[in-house]
Amino acid sequence: MYDLTIVGGGPAGTSAAITAARHGARVLLLERGRFPRHKVCGEFVSAESLGLLGNLLDAEHAALLRDAIRIPQARVFLDGRTLETAVGPPAASIARVDLDAALWDLAGQSGVETRQQTTVQAITGGGPFTVATSSGDFETLAVINTSGRWSNLNPAPTGSGRAGEKWLGLKAHFAEPSPPASVDLYFFDGGYCGVQPVELNGAGSTHGRVNACAMVRADVASTLSEVFSRHPSLRERSRHWKPLSDAVSTSPLLFRDPQPEHGNILMAGDAAGFVDPFVGDGISLALRSGKLAADCLASFFRREASLHDAAGRYRRTYEQQLAPIFRASSKIRRLLLLPRSVRTPMLYLLENIPVVTRYLVSKTR
Ligand SMILES: Cc1cc2nc3c(=O)[nH]c(=O)nc-3n(C[C@H](O)[C@H](O)[C@H](O)COP(=O)(O)OP(=O)(O)OC[C@H]3O[C@@H](n4cnc5c(N)ncnc54)[C@H](O)[C@@H]3O)c2cc1C
Repeated sequence: MYDLTIVGGGPAGTSAAITAARHGARVLLLERGRFPRHKVCGEFVSAESLGLLGNLLDAEHAALLRDAIRIPQARVFLDGRTLETAVGPPAASIARVDLDAALWDLAGQSGVETRQQTTVQAITGGGPFTVATSSGDFETLAVINTSGRWSNLNPAPTGSGRAGEKWLGLKAHFAEPSPPASVDLYFFDGGYCGVQPVELNGAGSTHGRVNACAMVRADVASTLSEVFSRHPSLRERSRHWKPLSDAVSTSPLLFRDPQPEHGNILMAGDAAGFVDPFVGDGISLALRSGKLAADCLASFFRREASLHDAAGRYRRTYEQQLAPIFRASSKIRRLLLLPRSVRTPMLYLLENIPVVTRYLVSKTR
């Protein structure tokens, strides 16, 4: 019987696992894939979670954060205009192939029992639970579902996720000599593409690699070269890029109202709610909500609170601290993806009254 089983070994799952192990719990962490692996992601890690990330990393892995390229500026390229805003404090650019593998290793070193290539098929019970997997069944007192945005285990979407267009995510790394230390967002009708410098861990600061990551409507583009052709400045910038990784893709991207708990199962990271990617908060929310879920379970591990009470405390804290970020970021995305005739006056406002831009960005933090 484990105290806690965590489903999914991304940033939310590993953050929850390391935190729960530090609380003295007996933890099982299950992952259907295998690390290291590339992941569709802009790899922009916002400053809000860098302290937490530093706290999760040990001395052996500290270079991942210490040597990461810093991103002190964002530029939005839209309708021939360029909106610039400072990213303060600066974000970090960390390749997911390195980040996720390091956190996975750290979970194992923290005393968590980690199993890769183990797909969870079903979870039954309301506490204790039986977790049925491709490698057999496990009994556990509590479960945190961190299986990401799109999993067989997540409840059917409610609210804004039910209907709408089909969106997909695409990403690859390319060689570009001396890219600016900026996250550049190229918006076009039906999507956008983010470009920022990134380095692989231990590669040194050669500053010759960029991450290009797009979120695009399926009827607008299905490859990165189609995406690049949708924006004149991006088409020009990408003309001499050489691929440094295979392109990876993911679909569908469903936006839904956050749901941090379901039947006494705590949900963290994208499994609780998928935040609009362009605000670059998904990894941060995953790390923070994973830790929060494990912290809220600490009194249950000590037999001082019931699972129901611990799950209720997590739900309430999540609603207060994290849910507002989802509402603010989806409003901004809708604004940027509005038809041109409507968004032009809005952009004029943002360009000329920077305090409005700063206010909008602060609401996503
Ligand atoms: C186009 C795009 C760009 C993005 N750009 C950024 C960005 O620049 N910055 C940022 O902060 N965020 C970004 N995000 C969001 C970010 O990638 C996610 O928010 C983050 O990965 C969430 O982490 P997670 O741990 O919740 O889920 P994931 O990282 O998705 O991890 C979930 C894990 O669960 C595993 N799993 C799923 N089902 C099962 C099962 N049944 N059994 C066992 N394991 C299972 C999966 O294999 C996966 O490894 C972007 C997302 C997209 C789509």
